Amino acid sequence: MKLKTLFICFLMVFFINVTVWAEQTDTDFVAWKKQLRTQALNEGLTEEFLDEVIPRMTLLPHVVESDKKQPEFQLTFWTYLDKTITPLRIQKGQEMLRLHHKTLKAAEKKYKVPAKYIVAFWGLESNYGSHKGSIDTLNALTTLAYDTRRRTFFTKELLTFLKILQKEKLSDITGSWAGAFGNFQFMPTTFQAYGVDGDGDGKIDIVNSVPDAIFSAANYLSKMGWNPNVKWGREVKLTKPMSWEDVHNDKQKTLADWEKLGVKPANGGPWPTKMAGVNAEILMPMGVDGPVFLTYSNFKVIMRWNRSTLYALAVGLLSDAIEQENMTIYAKRQNNPLSTIEVKEIQEILAKEGYYTSDIDGNVGRGTREALCKYQKDHQLPQDGYASKEILKKMKGIE
Ligand code: CA
Repeated sequence: MKLKTLFICFLMVFFINVTVWAEQTDTDFVAWKKQLRTQALNEGLTEEFLDEVIPRMTLLPHVVESDKKQPEFQLTFWTYLDKTITPLRIQKGQEMLRLHHKTLKAAEKKYKVPAKYIVAFWGLESNYGSHKGSIDTLNALTTLAYDTRRRTFFTKELLTFLKILQKEKLSDITGSWAGAFGNFQFMPTTFQAYGVDGDGDGKIDIVNSVPDAIFSAANYLSKMGWNPNVKWGREVKLTKPMSWEDVHNDKQKTLADWEKLGVKPANGGPWPTKMAGVNAEILMPMGVDGPVFLTYSNFKVIMRWNRSTLYALAVGLLSDAIEQENMTIYAKRQNNPLSTIEVKEIQEILAKEGYYTSDIDGNVGRGTREALCKYQKDHQLPQDGYASKEILKKMKGIE
């Protein structure tokens, strides 16, 4: 009896809490929608359209959960590559190159971005249109705009999305939990700024029209400064010890200068002579013991699309693999990913010794890499800023 009473009490408290929470959210959400409506009217959306669309907006709690989720292990160059550049994806990329040859060549002619790069972005963003995402974009953006963490950013994306829906008369758009949609997973503001009509039907539809999607992606890359005369970069090998000053701080040198410092193409071949004046910088995604790349200006263009260096490397390597029918990386493969807990340990030691002042968040960002470089310099270690199990052992005095 006593237990039963307790259980009922528990249930009552539970229901009261849930009801109060739901009502609070509900009241806030209604007020928020009203405010959004006023803002949308000020930005030129019509009453008729808003009366139809605003009542349809609902919150998706799992979107916020996905947005907050942290990976258990850090993605390394190799784990990322295994996931993103599979033999099937290379093969399908070649098929897409053939299947959409005419559209891709027309886009290449107009925007001066080679077809193989467009196909590589397409493969990574939506597996060539087969995984465009199944979350209702209107509700994903509504949820993230209503959530207080990045309200300004997502309110702008939501209002832009509403303008697109009204203008292009698109409906039922689904995409990622973060509000990106279509073959190339554009955010609404990217669509608005760079979307173009590739098939000439007077509408821009990056979800259902492949020519619209391809022309829009090429237009974006062209506006970001794509240089058609150079590649993205290439794998290299270091044949002499290198000064860390030359490697860090995005130091740019011409290929001729890198060559003098002992940097050679990884395949053992010579440098193409017409490339001597091209500016490049060194990238070591897995530290001094991992693969080494020289990246050219187009690498920065790829990073304007997505700020991750691993993503940018994957675009470059996938585009080469599609062209050459397979992917070749000369560096020896090693893979020993750090857990988020181990990254936190590294950050804690760096913080304790005065090298690091940011959050102990388990994410290796620029701050952690720079702090690690300073630590390595003071401890006479190679300054690659790469958080590894080896460096953690050294920091803890195990080795
Ligand atoms: Ca169109």
